[in-house]
Amino acid sequence: MQRKEQEKYRQRLLEMAARLKSDEPGVISDALRQASGDISGNISNVPMHLADLGTDTFEQEMSAGLLANARQLQIEVAAALDRIEQGTFGKCEQCGRDIGEGRLEVVPYTRYCIDCAQSAENEGETGFQPTLL
Ligand SMILES: [Zn+2]
Repeated sequence: MQRKEQEKYRQRLLEMAARLKSDEPGVISDALRQASGDISGNISNVPMHLADLGTDTFEQEMSAGLLANARQLQIEVAAALDRIEQGTFGKCEQCGRDIGEGRLEVVPYTRYCIDCAQSAENEGETGFQPTLL
């Protein structure tokens, strides 16, 4: 990938990172407010606790899901910026091939080419999040 292109994606990723950061406080306070009364201190378990409450679970799960997604997205965006620094941006972490430019346009933070993302989605591999790809 050419430097000019990398710079374009870098700018886009930085914008995404800034936006995610500014969105986060609202999403977090929503999720915490709705979970109040049943916070065990383990944030990663919030969605499961919410599901156990039995009331208004849909809304609560939505907020918790948004929060988890925003967090995950922040991590992915930061990792993509790292890859630009390392010079590995745009290469699939699974098979090493170039990720299509059309795909990077849509999801510049992706680690995987479309083929690997789809096969992971089909296999339902744990730890792999097709919704982000
Ligand atoms: Zn691949």
